[in-house]
Amino acid sequence: MFDYLIVGAGFAGSVLAERLATQANKRVLLVDKRTHIGGNAYDNYNEDGILVHKYGPHWFHTNDKGVFDYLSQFTEWRFHYHRVKSYVDGNLLPIPINMDTVNELYGLKLSSPEDVQTFFDTVKVQIDNPKNSEEMVISQVGKDLYDKFFKNYTLKQWEIHPKDLAASVTARIPTRTNRDNRYFTDKYQCMPKYGYTAMFNKMLMSPNISILLNTDYNDIIKEVSYKKMIYTGPIDSFFDYKFGKLPYRTLRFEHETFNQENYQGLQQVNYPNDFDFTRIIEWKHATGQKSNLTTITREYSLLADDHSDKYYPIPREENHALFNKYKAEADKIESVLFCGRLADYKYYNMDQVIARSLSLFKKETV
Ligand code: FAD
Repeated sequence: MFDYLIVGAGFAGSVLAERLATQANKRVLLVDKRTHIGGNAYDNYNEDGILVHKYGPHWFHTNDKGVFDYLSQFTEWRFHYHRVKSYVDGNLLPIPINMDTVNELYGLKLSSPEDVQTFFDTVKVQIDNPKNSEEMVISQVGKDLYDKFFKNYTLKQWEIHPKDLAASVTARIPTRTNRDNRYFTDKYQCMPKYGYTAMFNKMLMSPNISILLNTDYNDIIKEVSYKKMIYTGPIDSFFDYKFGKLPYRTLRFEHETFNQENYQGLQQVNYPNDFDFTRIIEWKHATGQKSNLTTITREYSLLADDHSDKYYPIPREENHALFNKYKAEADKIESVLFCGRLADYKYYNMDQVIARSLSLFKKETV
């Protein structure tokens, strides 16, 4: 007899399993249909010995000290600022747009934040109440920067024109008037020193946790006894899609290893206008691994079908309305707690899903 059956061994399921097992002495059965723990944050060494993130790059960043302290129990860290460049007009330019981006793109010599602010003020278009993503970006950085950095990237990422995306999707385009080229500004920015999977292994070490991999929970549910379920899978699938399927974007990854130490000099280059892929990741720059070889991954965005991994909920009003129908059903079931990006149909960063799981644990054990 288990106290909890937890479906999904990603961050949501693993944090809850760890807390319930070690802080509330509960017996937990953690089930995942994949062959590994870690959910989308899973990483492994490829056949060339390079550590890669199987489901796309995961940069840990947070301002939440509670989340950082929580994870620090299970890993040492490699502190590391994430830096990204965008390939535009044949140049590799810093993104978010900063003083160097503007100078290199337009051959300018702006040297103070005031000069750069004046530049943005000159190019931005006065739009009082931006109605969509296009208007939102143009009202901040003008038409040319929008065309070069945002329009086609959004089209590749979502196959939706920015005109048809809610203004909130790009509500705050981070632009900088100085030379700060960090992608994120959060207080804690780091990677687990030995990788995410090693960190998950430590989280799930308690003898109170039994793990069943390669198993869809539907296949065992009648054979196990438990008091309560925590479900972190897709909410529409839980209800047999009775109101219809929630749409997602997925990704296709193309990996290539080169017999050279370095490929592009940094961990991420975005390709808004050229090629079909959205970005190239070079893993060693993110993990700090040393090797004479280097692996890169090209990332292609596409609509998920029934067989694909579901990555990004599509931010459109009709999808949220459909989710709310499922949520209303879920709220009626007291014996099942729903948590995580698939169950909440919400794009969470890792720190957000950890914070959500820690607060659910607190609620559950008061
Ligand atoms: P998941 O990790 O998806 O775990 C859910 C698990 O449930 C899966 O392992 C799945 O196999 C299992 N499951 C589903 N249905 C069943 C079933 N029927 N039976 C058994 N098991 C089932 N966040 C950041 O903070 N920084 C980043 O840089 C970042 N990059 C990202 C890049 C990509 C491409 C993606 C997709 C996400 C990224 N994220 C990033 C977000 C991060 O992945 C999520 O916040 C986190 O993984 C969510 O954890 P979760 O447990 O909710 O979901």
